[in-house]
Amino acid sequence: MSKDWKTRTKLVHEGSRRSQYGEMAEAIFLTQGFVYPDAESAEARFIKAGDDEFIYARYGNPTTRMFEERIAALEGTEDAFATASGMAAVNGALMAMLRAGDHVVSSRALFGSCLYVLEEVLQRFGVKVTFVDGADLAAWKAAVVPGTKAVFFESMSNPTLELVDIRGVSDIAHAVGALVICDNVFATPIFSRAVEQGADVVVYSTTKHIDGQGRALGGVVCASREFIRKTLEPYMKHTGGSMSPFTAWIMLNGMATLDLRCRAMATSAQKIAEVLAGDARLSRVIFPGLASHPQHALAMAQMGSGGTLVTFDIKGGKEAAFRFMNALDIIKISNNLGDAKTIATHPATTTHQRLPQDQKDLLGITPGLIRLSVGLEDVDDLIAELQDALSAV
Ligand SMILES: *Cc1c(COP(=O)(O)O)cnc(C)c1O
Repeated sequence: MSKDWKTRTKLVHEGSRRSQYGEMAEAIFLTQGFVYPDAESAEARFIKAGDDEFIYARYGNPTTRMFEERIAALEGTEDAFATASGMAAVNGALMAMLRAGDHVVSSRALFGSCLYVLEEVLQRFGVKVTFVDGADLAAWKAAVVPGTKAVFFESMSNPTLELVDIRGVSDIAHAVGALVICDNVFATPIFSRAVEQGADVVVYSTTKHIDGQGRALGGVVCASREFIRKTLEPYMKHTGGSMSPFTAWIMLNGMATLDLRCRAMATSAQKIAEVLAGDARLSRVIFPGLASHPQHALAMAQMGSGGTLVTFDIKGGKEAAFRFMNALDIIKISNNLGDAKTIATHPATTTHQRLPQDQKDLLGITPGLIRLSVGLEDVDDLIAELQDALSAV
């Protein structure tokens, strides 16, 4: 495939493989295994499989391979490995490269399951993890020491939309030879060029913007061929976290419209944030695309966009937030994000319910906080509904 293709062309065509039938759409190779013409071929393939040779769907599959090649081309990495969920990608990237005694530095504001892997799973196996305020470069500098093996962060945090300065943290990590692992879900592969800015390993939950229609769980790890094939693949293929061919087909179809969808959602998110910004019924509106966001300049330099989520705090706490949510109609109450459908989430009682109060306070997860994942509906309908629901409070 051409390396000169621009993003939208890659998203439609990169990685396509056609069978002898020359099918137009990407085929779903819904097969667990592959037939060898003779015993010698089977032996040869187990010694070394060629580019178009597969052994078992847990190791790889033509449909999954198409998706891996397409996202690697988008991300600008040599290779990628598709996983059963975003968490299989996060857990796999970390577990595959770490061993007892290693040290990791991570931002504190993490998706709940990422926090579980870093705080509970890794530490149970003897990996030391230091948590820092991800937005504070001085804190990263103090925590990353010679011998630190990896740093981990979400480039834009959930639900308070704080950015991590990818280039700044990467420089600090690389100075001691630590690998930079970036969970780029909130920032999206369209807006965040994490690899260009220094990340070594980029992970996605493809459940979010990449599927974009709330159909399937999936994940992917993008990195150098060395990391993907020598470090990650042995761990993933033997522990069972590979993506199914059917899911890969859904993700391939999602990718074709990914750029258009992310840009449309971000345009609507910007408009919604600007309308809500002055609203007296809200105590704060968090959106990196607003000049009032403390990291607005970093957001523009790093992403060129405020992204597709808007978070706001309704005066009156939980009761007011619930009244607001219960007055919604087009906007659905759920906890996915990056979906074509606009989704409202109340983090304090759902996604972040289990966090102790002091952690909620530290992360700014207040009782009135609403996270809005802006979808593809007409933005004027969304704004009208948000206004009505705020009036109902
Ligand atoms: C959703 C999400 C994950 C986990 O992905 P799943 O596909 O649900 O396993 C990891 N990190 C972030 C930032 C997420 O939003």
